[in-house]
Amino acid sequence: MVEVPPGGSGRKALVTISKLRERAERPPACRRCSGRSWWNGWRVVFPTVAAAVAGLVERWELPVPRAKCSSCKHGFTCYPPGIYPRRQYQLDVVAAVAAAVALGAQPLARAAGAAHASATSARRWTAWVASLSRPRELLAVAARLDPDAPAGAGLSIHPAGEARRSCAARVLAALEHVGAALVRRGLALAARTGLGRVLGWQHEAHGDVYGLVAGVRHLSPAMALGGKEAAG
Ligand SMILES: [Zn+2]
Repeated sequence: MVEVPPGGSGRKALVTISKLRERAERPPACRRCSGRSWWNGWRVVFPTVAAAVAGLVERWELPVPRAKCSSCKHGFTCYPPGIYPRRQYQLDVVAAVAAAVALGAQPLARAAGAAHASATSARRWTAWVASLSRPRELLAVAARLDPDAPAGAGLSIHPAGEARRSCAARVLAALEHVGAALVRRGLALAARTGLGRVLGWQHEAHGDVYGLVAGVRHLSPAMALGGKEAAG
């Protein structure tokens, strides 16, 4: 579930944790042509991720392996599970900040402070979540994934108030339903929030595994799919 961070008071300094180089023996096949690929070095990214302790974040110095296709020469990066491409602030962090704004009615600066982000980021993330999808369509996806789920539960508890915040609250609640349905379907998803689970699932599966075609189209392509690299 989305956990609302405690806010900016008494926050700890952001630590950077160096991660070891880890990769499979062989890279996956090329997503463009299905050709064989080979490992082609590493690059280092610095994602801000949700820490094990709820409401805290930490920064990783994370080496991610690069691969290259032997046939079409397409180069690509292989992100570990739970790490979303091309995002410094990972999706569980974004979800927590947006939840603090939309569900917790926290001021932008306070919500952002818990994640060591700016008020501008908190505003942008909340707006992005609000426009990501239509709650009813997400609930329809959840119902298809898990027909026994209590569809619509939680949608009526969002706070009234500023339109964008209440819209973001409904989208977050609906994403939680889809994420929970995915987990009940047995998918191993590293993310803890509905936002992280749903977008992470789309990225890792990179396709329409359970018939989420409409949902994919309604999600923001640039942010939902991580740009060209994630799709290619
Ligand atoms: Zn290729």
